[in-house]
Amino acid sequence: MKFKLDILIQLLRFKWNRLFHWSEQGWESLRKKRLKKLYLHLRNSPAYRELVNQNAPLSEFPVIHKNIFMRDFDQINTVNIKKADALKLALEAEKTRDFSPMIDDITIGLSSGTSGNTGIFLVSPRERAHWVAGILDRVIGFSLQKRKVAFFLRANSNLYESARSRLLEFAFFDIMQPIGSHIEKLKSFQPDILIAQPSVLRSLAKAQEKGKMNLSLKKLISVAEVLESIDRKYFEKVFGITISEVYQCTEGFLAASCPAGRLHFNEDFIFLEKKYLDEGKKRFHPVITDLYRYTQPVIRYELNDIIVEYPHCECGQPGTAIDFIEGRSDDVFIFTDENGEETTVYPDLMRRAIITASGEITFYHLTQTDQKTIAVYLEHEGSQNDIQDKVKSQLLEKLAGYKIHNIEIIFTHSYQHEPGTKLRRIKNEYSKAD
Ligand SMILES: [Zn+2]
Repeated sequence: MKFKLDILIQLLRFKWNRLFHWSEQGWESLRKKRLKKLYLHLRNSPAYRELVNQNAPLSEFPVIHKNIFMRDFDQINTVNIKKADALKLALEAEKTRDFSPMIDDITIGLSSGTSGNTGIFLVSPRERAHWVAGILDRVIGFSLQKRKVAFFLRANSNLYESARSRLLEFAFFDIMQPIGSHIEKLKSFQPDILIAQPSVLRSLAKAQEKGKMNLSLKKLISVAEVLESIDRKYFEKVFGITISEVYQCTEGFLAASCPAGRLHFNEDFIFLEKKYLDEGKKRFHPVITDLYRYTQPVIRYELNDIIVEYPHCECGQPGTAIDFIEGRSDDVFIFTDENGEETTVYPDLMRRAIITASGEITFYHLTQTDQKTIAVYLEHEGSQNDIQDKVKSQLLEKLAGYKIHNIEIIFTHSYQHEPGTKLRRIKNEYSKAD
């Protein structure tokens, strides 16, 4: 009961702030207040105590990556939970699929990275309530009508089940199970809202297209992976509605789609720093401080997603708007140009080559396999030879624009996506950038 009350309080706070602080200045003042409070709480974290005692500004705190976040797990968290204990409990729950790993009232969750390395996160009931309220406010939207939500997840956790109430009924689908096994259940559940990652949505869209489910959705929400325009178009065509997006990491809720369909960072409770990657300051790695995470503080945590900023979103929502997310930084291709210089090719260029080659392509996967080769996997309508020729010439043309020549394009006939892992459509298996 206390938990539901917490959600309600947080939700009212969201509504209040929407009425009175819905502006860049408003969000800035919320951010300052929340950062001050979090800062004081960091005394309870052995990793940050010393810096707080020295009164060091946030800008002097170390920027960390996932590996440090995991390595220093024991020192970072403020509730004295040991990584070994948390991991043991979480893995046990994963194995038995008994989804309630907790130490005292702290929920323990696992998150999968793109490279398959497992992350572990801790959330208190209050933080869970905030997460649920955030999703309700920014993504699902409030309605007095009862709605059913189908949620596809890697593993269930208390975090998600908690949103069951008189107005929302959540059904959980485990993406580690074959998707085919969910079709019947989904058909009889008939959700109003469907939440899943694009690689799962793809399988579901195919089933829907074949008339196996007859879903009539009010909302379609993409989470966890980068949603590309090719997928967006396909899903919207099949389900007949606009898709919304949630961008999150280690269970921090980072950004959600605005009414104009663009992701905006939740800068009212996320302190965002931008580590620019190019001179034109168009692309950046987000460096995140989550102002609501007290149990396992997320302080200056650098993500390896490449964000391309959208300068002025017309919707009027505060927070940095995202034009698109380019995927992980190791998904850039690296070739040698005609002058012998090592040249970085961003995934967006490759993506555009594919999209402009043909409107009939429904799925693709590109891999740089060595210094001079790109392996291409395609699914499409229309004639194969035709489309392959067009893709090849588009790719070579785009590369030539970077003075890169003599690249071999080969076509493969199969592609394996491991269930439960995030889809990386443009992958460099040969070399990695910083
Ligand atoms: Zn907007």
